[in-house]
Amino acid sequence: MAGEPCGVISPSLPERSCQRLLAYDGGMGVRRILELGDDTLRRVSAPAADPQQARRVMQDLEDTLADFRRRHGFGRGISAIQIGEPLRLIFLLAEGRRYELVNPVFVEKSAEWFEMWDDCFSFPDLMVRLRRHVRVVIEHEDLEGGRHRLEAEHALAELIQHEMDHLDGVLAVDHARSSRDLMTRREWLRQQSRI
Ligand SMILES: [Zn+2]
Repeated sequence: MAGEPCGVISPSLPERSCQRLLAYDGGMGVRRILELGDDTLRRVSAPAADPQQARRVMQDLEDTLADFRRRHGFGRGISAIQIGEPLRLIFLLAEGRRYELVNPVFVEKSAEWFEMWDDCFSFPDLMVRLRRHVRVVIEHEDLEGGRHRLEAEHALAELIQHEMDHLDGVLAVDHARSSRDLMTRREWLRQQSRI
């Protein structure tokens, strides 16, 4: 994690001490996020079958998401494959709620679509214009093995579609229909500020 801001742990520590502290602490579950071009992101994840392992990975996802939000100022969801764990696990922090999705599957997708500019932890400086279903229904397990049904629209629905794509090795860039559907984040922000 060379070059990561150490201020998250303690702003007063020099960088070397901070890295040592991170190592002792197990990094508080903060893991390296795999980036676009890493073949592991293209793997199809396997169902999570070991509850202890699922709990451990889910905690790391929550910690890694929190760390990313502190550093980048955005982020609502992360899939296990993004920290190198090929398991069907997703952690979401959206609309004031935490969602721990274990082995989620789609049971419904609306016929209506909407267009949006999407982003991803695995390529934080790139925006992609794509289409998502307006509404989805999924079924998933929790960390205790209970089963749940979740209906989602708009922002939560597109987030779920983004994260569930990761479970099958699909990235937002794959949905770009032309090179004009790609934009740097800085240019996207510049254009947004003129609207
Ligand atoms: Zn993503």
